[in-house]
Amino acid sequence: MNIRQSRRNLLISTIKGGLALATTSVLSPILLSSCKRKEKASEAINAKEVLASLCPGQESLSEEDKMVRKSLKYVDQTPQADKTCDNCKLYTNPRGDGPCGGCQVVPGPIHPKGYCSAWIRRM
Ligand code: SF4
Repeated sequence: MNIRQSRRNLLISTIKGGLALATTSVLSPILLSSCKRKEKASEAINAKEVLASLCPGQESLSEEDKMVRKSLKYVDQTPQADKTCDNCKLYTNPRGDGPCGGCQVVPGPIHPKGYCSAWIRRM
């Protein structure tokens, strides 16, 4: 191997190493982001299952009742810590053993830490 070939081989191996490093540094954040999204989706599904077990009967509501819940943007976990169903004027306390009560406008079981767009402060 002469000096020219040696330089060429060195240049090629440097380029290959650089490409591998660049590929790794570009793909790593994308792969990590994808994994984190999957974890969050999995956590959301688990949280939904836990809430569904706390407030059973949501799945057997009529399509009309589901539409009312959806149109008022009811959620089992409030996005605003100071606005929850249990401090809403329209919330009715649980009647059975479970933690979930009811609501004067939203049909079906209502989680005390839920929320919807019809929230009114209880005085
Ligand atoms: Fe909860 Fe909305 Fe009913 Fe108030 S009106 S209790 S925030 S579902």
